[in-house]
Amino acid sequence: MSALVEAVGLTRYFEIGRGQRVHAVEDVSLAVAPREIVGLVGESGSGKSTFGKTLLGLYRKTAGTVRYRGESLPDRYAPADFRRLAKKMQMIFQDPYSSLNPRMTVAEIIGEGLRLHTDLPKTEINRRVAAWLDQVGLTGDHGSRYPHEFSGGQRQRIGIARAMILEPEFVVCDEPVSALDVSVQAQVVNLLGELKESLGLTLLFIAHDLSMVRHVSDRMAVMYLGSLVEVGAADEIYFEPKHPYTELLVGSNPEPDPETERNRDSTAIRGEIPSPVNVPPGCRFAGRCPKVMDVCHEVTPELIPLRDAERQVACHLYT
Ligand code: SF4
Repeated sequence: MSALVEAVGLTRYFEIGRGQRVHAVEDVSLAVAPREIVGLVGESGSGKSTFGKTLLGLYRKTAGTVRYRGESLPDRYAPADFRRLAKKMQMIFQDPYSSLNPRMTVAEIIGEGLRLHTDLPKTEINRRVAAWLDQVGLTGDHGSRYPHEFSGGQRQRIGIARAMILEPEFVVCDEPVSALDVSVQAQVVNLLGELKESLGLTLLFIAHDLSMVRHVSDRMAVMYLGSLVEVGAADEIYFEPKHPYTELLVGSNPEPDPETERNRDSTAIRGEIPSPVNVPPGCRFAGRCPKVMDVCHEVTPELIPLRDAERQVACHLYT
C-alpha cells in the first residue's frame, strides 16, 4: 500500500555554536500507510519528538524529504500551502498544561483552527465545537470554561478535539499521555484508538511506554539517539524484539497486567543515552550494549530487512 506520509533520509541538526551541533534526527526513513497507527518509541532524548515536528514542518529539516500522498513537501511553505496542509496534518502535544492558551475558553481553543483555516460561519463553527466536546467525552457546559478548571486528562481531551476538528488525515501524537496519571492514560489512549477507527485516521504515536503503545499500534519503530534501530509489527517488536536496545527497552517496561508482569524478565538498561552532540562512531548503542562486538565500535549498522521488508533491524548481529 502506498504511504500517506513518508520520511526519506530525514535529518534535523540544531547548531549550538562553536561549530558544534545536536544530531537530533539522523537519516530516518519511515512510511506510514493510510489508516495505520505507527508507534515511535525510545527513551527521552532519543529524538522522537523532533522527528514528529520535522515531519510536520514545525522544524525545518536539515536534509531528506517528507512526502505527503507522494508529493514532496517544500522546506518553506507559501501561506496557501501552509493553510492547506495544516488542515490535513495535525499534532497533539505532550503537555496538556502548557499547550492550551489559559486566556481562551475551551470553545475558543477548539474552534480556533476552523476560524484560522476555513471560511465557515460562526454558527457552523459553534455547532462543530459542541459536537467535538461530546465526541471527546466533555459536555457543552465545558465550552465556556477555561483550561485551568480541568484535570490533566480533560485538558488532553480538549487538545485532541482541537486537533481533530480540522478533520486531519494524519496526526502526530507526541507523548499524549506521559504527563497524565496512570489511571487516565488508558482512557486517553482508548479515545485515540476509537477516533482512529471512526474517522479512518492515520497516526504517528510517540511514546516511551511500549506496553501502552503496543495496544493501539499496528507497527512500531524504535529510535535510539536520533536513528531507527528496529521497525516491525507491534506485537512482533514487543514479544520478539531483535535489537539489543529493543530487548532492554521491552524488559524495562512494566506490564500493566500483574499476571503478565510476574512472568516477564525485567531488565534495566545500563548507563545513560550519550550526548547527541558527540555521537559515537559505529553503532550508537555500543557503549551500553551487552552484546557489543569489536566491529560495533567501527562500522555503523544499516537498517536492513530481517525476514521481509516489514521487519527491519540495525545491528551487526543480523548482518
Ligand atoms: Fe549491540 Fe553491536 Fe548490535 Fe550495536 S551493532 S546493538 S553494539 S551488537
